[in-house]
Amino acid sequence: MDLTSRSHTLRTVRAYLDHAATTPPRPEAVAAMADVLARQLGNPSSVHASGQAARRVLDDARDLLAEVLGAKPSEIVFTSGGTESDNLAITGVLACHPGRALCSAIEHEAVLEPVHAAGGRTVPVTSSGVVDLDVLAAQLDDTVSIVSVMTANNENGVIQPIAEIAALVHDRVPGAVFHTDAVQAAGWLDLSTAAAYADLVAISGHKFGAPIGSGVLVVREGTELAPVLLGGGQEHERRSGTPNVAGAMALAVAARVAAENRSDFVISVARMRDRLADGLGATIDGMIEPARPANGDRSGLAPGIVQVCIAGVEGEALLFLLDEAGVDASAGSACAAGALDPSHVLAAMGVPTEMARGALRLSLGHTTTDSDVDRALDVIPAAVEQLRSAA
Ligand code: PLP
Repeated sequence: MDLTSRSHTLRTVRAYLDHAATTPPRPEAVAAMADVLARQLGNPSSVHASGQAARRVLDDARDLLAEVLGAKPSEIVFTSGGTESDNLAITGVLACHPGRALCSAIEHEAVLEPVHAAGGRTVPVTSSGVVDLDVLAAQLDDTVSIVSVMTANNENGVIQPIAEIAALVHDRVPGAVFHTDAVQAAGWLDLSTAAAYADLVAISGHKFGAPIGSGVLVVREGTELAPVLLGGGQEHERRSGTPNVAGAMALAVAARVAAENRSDFVISVARMRDRLADGLGATIDGMIEPARPANGDRSGLAPGIVQVCIAGVEGEALLFLLDEAGVDASAGSACAAGALDPSHVLAAMGVPTEMARGALRLSLGHTTTDSDVDRALDVIPAAVEQLRSAA
């Protein structure tokens, strides 16, 4: 099979605006991964020279990542991605400290599901998508073992006041652990400061330029965590399984490249995001940006995500037309059994169901160009028009 055939290189001819789902690996990460794979190393747990060479690569990746994230190397636990890191955080803490789990109502399912499975509760958000700190404060008592609030939301990019939330949790319940899912934030924010006060921080490589299947949970010193995967006791007994050495190095390199380019990258993506969102707003009647504050300021949103809701349009039908016209986008909500459920994030923000049904998420990243934005500005208003006239 020719893996370079046209069907495998669609992105070169389409406007890919779904970077929040996954962003293409950065060339530096691909090169680092290829280099590690080509060296035909052993298992990092083996004592022979080939195994120890792999161990050194893993240690180097750990050191590099620790530096970028402002953590100690011993605090880095490599995982398979964001879902595993979040599950390890919630389930691992509750296994050590039986008690209540709290999370925001707008978490990704990778947090919501383990919290619900443990009988935990959700904390509401305001209409602008920020956690209601008064309600959170009122729920914090000695029965709470873990609180989880994401750094940036995957549907609308809303950035939470993580330092303030961490301080509130630690102040009210000194024994409780504060976890943040920073999966969507890692490409945009410096987590060495943004998540400095979280006890646990989850990230996923494929959201910032490493391959799918690489992730990390930062476990700050002193945070007790039981493993979820049991076996050979790798990652200092916190995550069994042979580590993905090449993936870990690719993740570390992608994190470093993202950190080195962050300031210019954030400015250029925010500029394209503004052009896209403002352009759509100017041409589509009945469109709202639910997470954008009334004063129009988008500075509290991760720059790569635009979420809009379009009146009188079914998001699913719109996505189909966009796909046909060469624009890859997303509704941003869970897809179960082929049907798009209205987003729990928009519901938590109080967006009426009729508007939430017309949700569209466009997400930009390191391969996005102005011509992708032009194409979206060309195609989306026309597709909306087509759906409205058919209705
Ligand atoms: N958390 C958030 C906020 C996400 O956006 C995602 C994926 O979209 C995940 C967790 C899960 O990450 P992964 O795909 O690496 O399992």
